[in-house]
Amino acid sequence: MNRSQLRKYLPGTAEYIILHGAWSHSRGRAPSATLPFELNPRRALRWAKSFGYFSKNGKYLSGSIPANYICGECGVTGVKLWRDYNTFMDAQTLRCMVCACREQKKSREPTEDGRSLYAHDDHVYRTSAEPEQWLVYDPEKGVPTDAIETKVFSMRTDQIGWRVPAVPTEDGKSYWGYTSVPQPGCDWWGSLPTTLPVTQST
Ligand SMILES: [Zn+2]
Repeated sequence: MNRSQLRKYLPGTAEYIILHGAWSHSRGRAPSATLPFELNPRRALRWAKSFGYFSKNGKYLSGSIPANYICGECGVTGVKLWRDYNTFMDAQTLRCMVCACREQKKSREPTEDGRSLYAHDDHVYRTSAEPEQWLVYDPEKGVPTDAIETKVFSMRTDQIGWRVPAVPTEDGKSYWGYTSVPQPGCDWWGSLPTTLPVTQST
């Protein structure tokens, strides 16, 4: 194999470890690439072989968006979609960020890099009686009268309530489980825009 193939993958990913191992092997060397959590190269390679994923034509889903990758509520396509974590894979409904937030009663905002979301779920306040303690309140019911300060905790997440990123498998038949999406699938989903740019009709 050619060393330039390695450049397509980030060091520390399963795919990089596998290709690096093959490259080392082709030069008669032992594997030497490691992972942040596995510094033994042989064990790192074993881990990588069970998690690594290579698209048949080199690009996940050939870099395209499946025709049925559409928000079931507003019909938008070409954006990141979320599926229901609790529903069987063959009965999935997909939602865009806006529709998923409405359905799940959550507030989300794309991160600066566009690859994930910020959650603004926890509205908290503190009182003069216990100024060290931040307490959660329901913003729909208004700020508690004894509040001396309020704020909203922001947290990076790719989930919207019970909805998780919908990453289609390459055979188009299903979606990856939340914790088993291979890196090329994560990258495919991450590179989709979160919302479509607002176009002005003339
Ligand atoms: Zn939608």
